[in-house]
Amino acid sequence: MTSFIKANDKGANEALAHCESYYTATVNQEIRFPQLQGEQRADVCVIGGGFTGISTALTLAERGYSVALLEQHRIGWGASGRNGGQLIAGYTGRAKLERLHGGAAEKILNDMAYRGHEIIEERIKKYSIDCDLKYGYIDVAFKKRQLRELKESFEKLANSDLAEKYRMVEGQEINEVMGTEAYIGGLINNRNGHLHPLNLCLGEAKAASEIGVSIFENSAVISIEHGEKPWVKTQTGQVIADFVILAGNAYNELEQKKLNKLLFPATTFIIATEPLDEDEVSRINPLDLAVCDMNEIVDYYRLSADKRMLFGGLCNYTGREPLSIKATLLPRMLKLYPELMGKSIEYEWGGKIGMVVSRVPLIGRASKNVFYSVGYCGHGVNVTHMASEIMAEAVAGTFERMDLFERMKHVPMPLGNKLGNYLVALGMMYYRLLDLR
Ligand SMILES: Cc1cc2nc3c(=O)[nH]c(=O)nc-3n(C[C@H](O)[C@H](O)[C@H](O)COP(=O)(O)OP(=O)(O)OC[C@H]3O[C@@H](n4cnc5c(N)ncnc54)[C@H](O)[C@@H]3O)c2cc1C
Repeated sequence: MTSFIKANDKGANEALAHCESYYTATVNQEIRFPQLQGEQRADVCVIGGGFTGISTALTLAERGYSVALLEQHRIGWGASGRNGGQLIAGYTGRAKLERLHGGAAEKILNDMAYRGHEIIEERIKKYSIDCDLKYGYIDVAFKKRQLRELKESFEKLANSDLAEKYRMVEGQEINEVMGTEAYIGGLINNRNGHLHPLNLCLGEAKAASEIGVSIFENSAVISIEHGEKPWVKTQTGQVIADFVILAGNAYNELEQKKLNKLLFPATTFIIATEPLDEDEVSRINPLDLAVCDMNEIVDYYRLSADKRMLFGGLCNYTGREPLSIKATLLPRMLKLYPELMGKSIEYEWGGKIGMVVSRVPLIGRASKNVFYSVGYCGHGVNVTHMASEIMAEAVAGTFERMDLFERMKHVPMPLGNKLGNYLVALGMMYYRLLDLR
């Protein structure tokens, strides 16, 4: 069986390929970077070429730092080039951070919610990045208790600056907006949206490279030697820097002393249909919204720019892949949209997300000059960009926002990462049962 999660993990040639997906089939530029050879010096060495790493490198370069970025495969190879493309505000674990820090941190925690959106928008404009950004998103409820939750959120948002961007839909309207009778209501957020994540990531990498970031692909970091000037080593070279930023998220195996048992991978999968015709689109998703349901184990979907249904779900904590992604996801899609029966599924793929027991992202210091930002628990298009700004601030000696995350006491996973994953999987079975309520 082909592994869609580990696809391209092994072998020299495979290391140079992205996982096959709708995104790789519609990528708008072929951009390659060399392998690291010999010794390089930089103010900052970034490890990982996803949104966290690339956005951090770009932010730092914009602020005048010299940056070397090392990616073990290709830029956008990890979750950033494979995800659902949903641009969703906020970050997981926020309620816990609010409880921990109290009212004093309210504004700063609040301002972070949409910071990633702003950064992405600025970049798209500044660097002319073509990544199909569209606004419109909805959380949908199957059950009364889920609808109650949405209404409570809506009431809280009524006095916010963005109040006019939110709208509750119920009754006949939700059936029309969603093209199905499966939901009893939804909360539309027109400040959120969707985009082509691989084209955004590659566009940002190109911009970073053009303003001086040295990007290296096929350059897996095998160790970090800590010190006044940490050494970051690969098989073919090394980078000596003042600061190191760890941005490997669920694929990270470095700094286990700090991150072992705190960060664990989960997998999630997506299928893409053939393009739908105009009538189908206007019945199924006339407002072109990105959709997330309110279940504990979320199904998420949207239309691509060429009007395919990109349907994702099956989040799984054992790291196992279903025997067939299509056979497992398709019935979930058809239950909502029986009229898509017979549409061919042209792409199927999956990837890893970085999970943390508390759901609060792990953003902090492994030592005084080695920082990490991982564990966004399924979110990431927005939050990685916000986190990249926190990383850049820390390099400049400002830790205010990093401290908010770092002061969170994280519970290590009992039994270590592998067995612990099974423990969490058992927990997920419990949540699946909750979804049946
Ligand atoms: C199928 C799927 C659907 C998703 N849908 C959404 C969505 O719709 N909206 C949303 O907001 N989020 C979504 N997410 C989550 C989101 O994609 C991630 O949180 C985000 O992309 C993480 O970015 P990152 O840069 O931190 O990590 P990644 O994009 O995973 O990048 C990490 C990179 O680090 C590299 N790396 C690791 N170790 C080393 C090393 N030792 N040396 C060199 N390089 C190394 C890896 O090769 C990888 O390229 C989804 C994720 C998946 C998998």
